[in-house]
Amino acid sequence: MGTVVISIDAELGWGFHDVVDPPTDRVESGRDGWHTLLELFDRYDLPATWAVVGHLFLEECDGVHARHPLAGTWFEREQTEWLDRPDLRFAPDLIRQITDADAAHEIGCHTFSHVLFGQESTTLEIARAELLAALEAAENSPIDSEMRSVVFPRNSVGHRDVLAELGFSCYRGTRPNFDAIGPDAIRKIGAPPIVHPTIDEFGLINIPSSLYLYGFEGFARRLCEWLWEDPIVSRARAGVAAAADEDGVFHIWLHPNNLMSDIDVERLRRIFAHIAERRDRGAIEVKTMADVAKAVRSRADEMVYEYPPPSGR
Ligand SMILES: [Zn+2]
Ligand SMILES: [Zn+2]
Repeated sequence: MGTVVISIDAELGWGFHDVVDPPTDRVESGRDGWHTLLELFDRYDLPATWAVVGHLFLEECDGVHARHPLAGTWFEREQTEWLDRPDLRFAPDLIRQITDADAAHEIGCHTFSHVLFGQESTTLEIARAELLAALEAAENSPIDSEMRSVVFPRNSVGHRDVLAELGFSCYRGTRPNFDAIGPDAIRKIGAPPIVHPTIDEFGLINIPSSLYLYGFEGFARRLCEWLWEDPIVSRARAGVAAAADEDGVFHIWLHPNNLMSDIDVERLRRIFAHIAERRDRGAIEVKTMADVAKAVRSRADEMVYEYPPPSGR
């Protein structure tokens, strides 16, 4: 049976703290978008993987993070411009609402402070410190979460060996040129973006993304809305159908702060309604990343059982 996976990059201010001129509309939409998403998930009974920035588990901080290898300029915005914006830096209240929701969500990891793991300047030491800080923040919080899945900030994949070392089981990988924004996106509308999870050399399950639900914005989107149906809704429907046909995984993702207007919410509502309808008819299953990883691993174990290595070695 085909599978739909929905992952959420939940970050509030942390998605933009290193950006010179953060987009105000996105930054200010994070909290409302988070609530709207939770409501929609509950309305359609859809479980998702919420990859949360670890800093959001904190109730407060000194802004210095002396033990962090990037202490200093990396945390500058929370020491200055966002010093009086705890709503952008902390969110145990919002994380609690994920675990309290009716839908059976998973809490995953989006690093501690949104460091780009694939960037050359991100050393092994920094990557390990980021993940350890995230795990520690989650563990010290009263919220019950067992983080098994990783979503790399800006999909910048790196230091997978450290993920494995620290006990994570899976991550959201990328498909080259697949999430392209702009004219290329139009060309790709027809292709059903189905993925097949694999086990990497570190024993981690790679569950690549199929489609970023808000990667097709601006003029091209307005043109399509004017001429045809919202192209992302059509593409999502094609993805769900292809997942059912090909026994594959259709992995969609977004940020709470993508929900800036009624049009953004309506796109998601229509996609969720369609997924729920197909699920209710038995065409697909909706799973979290951790559940997909578990299924892939047990299938791999069965294969080892079916095909044992030659004896006498
Ligand atoms: Zn801090
Ligand atoms: Zn992010």
